[in-house]
Amino acid sequence: MSHFINVPEIFGTDVFNEATMQQRVAPEIYNAWKQCICTGSALSLEVANEIAETMKNWAIEKGATHYTHWFQPMTGITAEKHDSFISPTGDGRVIMEFSGSELVRGEPDASSFPSGGLRATFEARGYTAWDPTAFAFVKDGSLYIPTCFFSYTGEALDKKTPLLRSLDEISREAIRILRLFGDNQTQRVRVSVGPEQEYFLIPKSLYAQRLDLRLTGRTLFGAPAPKGQELDDHYFGTIRTRVSNFMKDLDEQLWRLGILSKTKHNEGAPCQHELAPIYSEAGNACDSNQLVMEIMKKCAAKHDLVCLLHEKPFAGVAGSGKHNNWSLCTDSGKNLFTPGKTPRQNAQFLVFLAAFIKGVDEYQDFLRSTVAYAGNDHRLGVTEAPPAIISIFLGDELTAVVNSIIGGTNYKDPEKSVMRIGVDVLPSIPKDTTDRNRTSPVAFTGNKFEFRMLGSSQSIAGPNIALNTIMAEELGQIADVLENAQDFDDALQKIVCDTLTAHQRIIFNGNGYSEEWKAEAAKRGLSNHVSTAQSLPTYVSQKNIELVTKHGIFTEAEFRARYEIHMQSYVKVTAIEGRTCVDMAMHQILPAALHYSRDLAKSILDKTAVGVSAKAENQLLKRLSEASDALYEKAQALSGKLSAIPADTSAAAEYMSQVIVPAMDDLRSDADTLEQITDKSYWPYPTYSDILFY
Ligand code: ADP
Ligand code: MG
Repeated sequence: MSHFINVPEIFGTDVFNEATMQQRVAPEIYNAWKQCICTGSALSLEVANEIAETMKNWAIEKGATHYTHWFQPMTGITAEKHDSFISPTGDGRVIMEFSGSELVRGEPDASSFPSGGLRATFEARGYTAWDPTAFAFVKDGSLYIPTCFFSYTGEALDKKTPLLRSLDEISREAIRILRLFGDNQTQRVRVSVGPEQEYFLIPKSLYAQRLDLRLTGRTLFGAPAPKGQELDDHYFGTIRTRVSNFMKDLDEQLWRLGILSKTKHNEGAPCQHELAPIYSEAGNACDSNQLVMEIMKKCAAKHDLVCLLHEKPFAGVAGSGKHNNWSLCTDSGKNLFTPGKTPRQNAQFLVFLAAFIKGVDEYQDFLRSTVAYAGNDHRLGVTEAPPAIISIFLGDELTAVVNSIIGGTNYKDPEKSVMRIGVDVLPSIPKDTTDRNRTSPVAFTGNKFEFRMLGSSQSIAGPNIALNTIMAEELGQIADVLENAQDFDDALQKIVCDTLTAHQRIIFNGNGYSEEWKAEAAKRGLSNHVSTAQSLPTYVSQKNIELVTKHGIFTEAEFRARYEIHMQSYVKVTAIEGRTCVDMAMHQILPAALHYSRDLAKSILDKTAVGVSAKAENQLLKRLSEASDALYEKAQALSGKLSAIPADTSAAAEYMSQVIVPAMDDLRSDADTLEQITDKSYWPYPTYSDILFY
């Protein structure tokens, strides 16, 4: 039953976007809002009141009864508290009211959001403020107002505020470079982001039977199914009806919210899929991705499915990531990572390229730490996702150009000497280089960089804040030199050549999954932080603190608060997983194995009584008993270790990764052995075969 959807007509209908605003408010109000967006100035209360009134009437027409200040606390998900529009008239009736001050500022009374120690307990309140660059929308009967979230003393308590700050910084520094190349027009450089979202969809009925999936989002146990993804028969395969109905429904909801959902296909693992939007400005892409994740979950439930956003729901099949496509673009639409046609455009491109390469090399630990998260530990470096080592894939053509600049040779004609930046034309660089090289954590793909280390459940804010800030810093350093140069062309040649030479170790076009690369990367001095516990402490290095405070992205306290929250999250997530392991081992797995053992023992007695051989039963019983004993002991050991988690957060993180995670893996191996030798009718939960090949 496919119903007709008029996409252009429904697109953005649930968003109070610029067009709606222009249609509905007086021109002077619209202009005041526009002015405030362009200059970053505050809205006057009068203007806010007008907009609020119009917004409210529009939202009521769309079925809204409530409004909410929607924000993105440091946990990486979104938060909302709903207030109705009702206001008593004094005669037992109500009218629907919404004022400018309610639009602009709210007080979610948010004392229980993790704050990483930012708010003193006596002033536990957090405040939200409308981000007028993001459009309000209607969803589930409420008017959603995208906001920033901060403390009484003005410290950012969310992910959106630092992202917006980093967008201002990168724009400011990029414009300095553009001016040097004669661009006097551009007022704003924007960051474009297109996050490709991977996810699993499994039947709700099977999900409901697995405690591990319900409590932790991933399977903590499970023997491999006889079939995995080795036939490659799922990737881009035909989408089954139930799933395609889900996808249609999802697209429609996203389009209504003005989200540019573009591509959908099956991914590598069974039951795994991907959604890619058309890229948009980073702040919008971040909001949209949060909505995509949330609506995926809700929409799946309507179709009797469950959407798993965990980075590694199933061992042995590919996990889910999020490729963050990132580029810079002027307000007139020129992509700054397009190599261009003239020597001048080429030279400008090379400056942006050199800045990026230098930044990623110098701040590799910072970038890596922005994706350090318990779920992602199961994915990075497991030959299905990029390794934990940061490197950049440039492709053959661009690498040849870089090498010729470093080596002082001419790319086109080795006989001719040096390639002169700003004078010689670059060879054309194909948009899609032969080898897509999915093994690389950072890849140049024609006119953008793809950062591929993000976990599927993570907010895209963290890595984008880091990319923007790093890039702002490097562009600023180059601008400092070039602005003061006696001879611009000489200085340009020198700085591009010196920068590429100093940072060429970060460029790697080979197979990132290979063992040789690990050895080679170590020789090059590149970091390899394999776990969250190893990587996160580098987040708050002196170098990073200097970087983020210099650019006003975070105060030191704000920055340390994020570190504290991520460390605590790692400890909490791992502890919940450990406890769930013990629970399932003691209450589900062991009892199942024991029931089956008891019945086998009975059968052995019965058979022996009538003189029939019970060889199979005997063998099985022996193996079951051994594995059951081991399981019991390991469950007890894990339980003991879980009661000894150190109080100090850093020590606890280390302990979780060194003690708890290995103990869980150890326990799992016995559980999975038991699963393989126990009669299926005794088994307490659906197996990998049941779930992945339903
Ligand atoms: P794939 O990597 O799967 O082959 P594409 O490279 O075409 O697909 O696009 C993947 C994502 O990159 C999409 O979300 C797309 O909108 C986004 N994208 C394309 N161009 C840019 C750009 N200049 N800046 C940021 N994102 C981009
Ligand atoms: Mg891609």
